[in-house]
Amino acid sequence: RIERLSDLEKLAVLGHGNGGTVYKVRHRQSSAVYALKVLRFDRDATALRERAAHEAEILKRVDSPFVVRCHGVFDGHCGDLCFVMEYMDVGSLHDVLRVRRRMAEKVVAGVARRVLEGLRYLHGMRIVHRDVKPSNLLVNGQGEMKISDFGVSRVVGVGSKDPICMDDSYVGTCAYMSPERLDPDSCGDGYDGFAGDVWALGVVLMECHVGRFPLISAGQRPDWATLMWAICFGDPLMEVGETASPEFESFVGRCLEKDWRRRGSVLELLNHPFVNWCSSTEGPDDDLHGWDK
Ligand code: ADP
Ligand code: MG
Repeated sequence: RIERLSDLEKLAVLGHGNGGTVYKVRHRQSSAVYALKVLRFDRDATALRERAAHEAEILKRVDSPFVVRCHGVFDGHCGDLCFVMEYMDVGSLHDVLRVRRRMAEKVVAGVARRVLEGLRYLHGMRIVHRDVKPSNLLVNGQGEMKISDFGVSRVVGVGSKDPICMDDSYVGTCAYMSPERLDPDSCGDGYDGFAGDVWALGVVLMECHVGRFPLISAGQRPDWATLMWAICFGDPLMEVGETASPEFESFVGRCLEKDWRRRGSVLELLNHPFVNWCSSTEGPDDDLHGWDK
């Protein structure tokens, strides 16, 4: 058990993000290694502070083998908020993709199954993640993949509207957003956001398959207008390629259905032949072992 922050010794920086830094730390008494996410605030950053408190609330509630575990939330000095997280030693899927580029379909199916299990759990808790992307999917040496980073998540029925996403610095975040999130007026009634997580999963799986961000082609300028057009009007399966199996194509087609009402649900997709084909032919190819850098 971690009693206080001063028991943790910083070993390295694991990542930087929106308003925070993630460190690799060691608990002095037990020598156990954790990840420590530190969120810093300016004195009057009330909105950010509220968002961080919200992230803490979600982290304290979730408990699943497919979601990164939180072992404690502490107030740091100068009003920092610190989350002690399970350390995922291989890093994020983003890091893995930078090294490996394309993945075999069986491995992609393994990614799909793990993320869907995480989404089934979260959605069952009425939590919409809203930021599913490679840098928020973490991997460890046991071949596990877990969803992390609840910085913009929302509990359905609680809280405010989407953060606005217009300026270029947000393009990276918007790249995995579904058409209905980019154009909320188009949603119609009854949109609860769960289908947005499924869209994002589809983009992630395509990225694993193609080896780079899949919605715009290599020659296109990755600016906001191109991206927005591609998401709302482009053919999301443009880059699938001829060697893809019909199962993969059908699966990502269900994720990347533009009309959120017709998109596949998490439960439907967990029963899809693409995911089941991978678990029925379980072998060394299907899992995520050997990703250690
Ligand atoms: P942000 O809200 O800034 O995106 P994240 O929680 O996504 O913060 O963390 C940023 C990066 O830090 C991740 O993409 C990952 O590379 C690294 N990281 C975060 N949490 C962990 C963890 N538990 N174990 C290992 N690396 C982590
Ligand atoms: Mg993140």
